[in-house]
Amino acid sequence: MLKRQNLKIVENHVTVASCNGDVISGKHPNVYLTLKDGSAECYYCGKIFVTKDVHEKHLSKTRKNFKKKKNV
Ligand SMILES: [Zn+2]
Repeated sequence: MLKRQNLKIVENHVTVASCNGDVISGKHPNVYLTLKDGSAECYYCGKIFVTKDVHEKHLSKTRKNFKKKKNV
């Protein structure tokens, strides 16, 4: 299950994200993560970096699924 505080939305043009942790999950050395298909996961703290586009797609998918379930 995704933790909300571990999700970081970045601009669509971003292909490399840098992460050095945060106060919630703990600090770690600065690392650079290459986004694949608009998302990347930090191997230190598990933070997920996702572009706005991918995040939007994910949200609309979730909404659709929710509607479907509700209507059935
Ligand atoms: Zn990290």
